[in-house]
Amino acid sequence: MNRRDFSKNMLILGLGAQAGCTVNMSKVDIDLGNYYEEPAKKLPIRKFDVVVAGGGTAGVVAAIAAARQGAKTALIEVKGYPGGTVTEGGTALHSFYNLWKAFPGVEKRQVVRGIPQEIIDRLMKLGGTSGHAEMSKGYNYDSVCTCIDTEMYKLVTFEILVEAGVFVCVNTLLAGAIMDGSRIRGVIVESRSGREAFYAKSFIDCTAYGDLAAYAGAKYSEPNDYPVVNSIGVANVNLERLHDFLEKHDAINQLAKGRRSGRDGQIVRIEGTAARLPGDFGKGASRIGMSMVTTTVHDNYFMFIKLNFKMPVSPTDRDEVAKAELELRKRQFRAIELFREYIPGCEKAFIARTSPKLCIRRGRLITCDYDISHEDVIEGRHFDDEIMVYGFHDSAPRYQIKDGGTYGLPYRALCVAGIENLLAAGMLITSDHRAHMSTRNTVCCMGQGQATGTAAALCAKENCGTRELSYGNLREALVKGGVYFES
Ligand SMILES: Cc1cc2nc3c(=O)[nH]c(=O)nc-3n(C[C@H](O)[C@H](O)[C@H](O)COP(=O)(O)OP(=O)(O)OC[C@H]3O[C@@H](n4cnc5c(N)ncnc54)[C@H](O)[C@@H]3O)c2cc1C
Repeated sequence: MNRRDFSKNMLILGLGAQAGCTVNMSKVDIDLGNYYEEPAKKLPIRKFDVVVAGGGTAGVVAAIAAARQGAKTALIEVKGYPGGTVTEGGTALHSFYNLWKAFPGVEKRQVVRGIPQEIIDRLMKLGGTSGHAEMSKGYNYDSVCTCIDTEMYKLVTFEILVEAGVFVCVNTLLAGAIMDGSRIRGVIVESRSGREAFYAKSFIDCTAYGDLAAYAGAKYSEPNDYPVVNSIGVANVNLERLHDFLEKHDAINQLAKGRRSGRDGQIVRIEGTAARLPGDFGKGASRIGMSMVTTTVHDNYFMFIKLNFKMPVSPTDRDEVAKAELELRKRQFRAIELFREYIPGCEKAFIARTSPKLCIRRGRLITCDYDISHEDVIEGRHFDDEIMVYGFHDSAPRYQIKDGGTYGLPYRALCVAGIENLLAAGMLITSDHRAHMSTRNTVCCMGQGQATGTAAALCAKENCGTRELSYGNLREALVKGGVYFES
């Protein structure tokens, strides 16, 4: 049973992600009919060519790409570091490769290169990644496992942003949009240095939640079609003993060996079927929405154990999110108890890392000029305005891209409908849940980042809206930036 089936079975049983919230919190109602009128205020202005909102998975790459095109670029990130969900939520970066191992005879190819690969190269030099470790079990899901040291990722991406000349505003909240008809003139940002207006020619929304698009009046919906998660890093564990225990119970679904603590050929990814294990581990895991896929680049450490919780409403609801934050932290505590009690080598395990806030797989869904469909993805369709290709599907082996190939992401899919100078990259595009199970993955988001950063910079240079940009010029710049196309 793979991790998708595991989650699905838990849902069928009404357990795990669906299990009820055990948190009750006090409520304070809005004083209906009463308002405080905020006084108008003069804000200082800074001027840029490109503003990127959100310094996460896609936003980091977008800002680097824009600055390398010569654009004066600002990156606005509410946390104290760049990296976003790639450093907080997932298990491995899916995927730089096509699914060649599941389709005998299909050529192995690295389909995402450019800036995303450059980040991996930098991490490799510091011992901060497993490299593209080939899966020896479970390769009908992904051919490789690329896992990272999440803390090094934050450092390395911060350094590359600074080297590229990006004005990096961490600890800064994007709080509004200044509109001029259907064109964004600027954004309002808030930090402890005060409230400011950042003007620019082109904008990119990489906030995952679609905050900038929503402030700009773009059309959006909130599908609330995934559980929310706070994954944990667990230390003081022995991967070899975990492996032997899972093997003894015929419970290993996925296995990859790569670089760990400076040595090659070490276990860096292992997935087990909790239900096959003796005792109440399986039942306990399903009650707290825990999936047992772990990756690591260090001895004695599992990078991510995921605890899923399905919220009753969209994760844009502050008060429901507060409840979910506490619920997830209770589940984390239970998870560590389960590991200590049942898994050999984990008797003294402890939580070494949590995400600063719960992670989402989807917040707002922003309407763009084109909506990538399930058929586009699994049929491996290509487009005459495509800006990258991609070959991974998170619901594999149920859904795979045809013949282990790739599909293309059209530039139109990143142009926010109704706004002249706004692009979007990351988990906030693609309405069909099945297609989104592909486009939302980290490496796809990073590729979208490189495309939107490059496009926004070219638009600023040519003083044009996103739809007037010459595709020929964009493609030429992307190829120069190392982006791979199939033809
Ligand atoms: C639990 C979980 C597990 C996953 N597992 C995997 C996996 O194993 N492999 C894989 O490839 N993918 C995985 N994914 C999917 C993938 O990690 C995400 O879809 C992807 O990282 C999203 O990238 P993004 O750039 O859209 O958003 P993010 O990386 O979340 O970036 C958004 C950034 O915007 C910032 N921000 C938001 N609002 C504002 C604001 N108003 N002002 C300033 N800054 C703001 C945030 O702080 C954040 O840094 C997983 C996702 C989750 C949640």
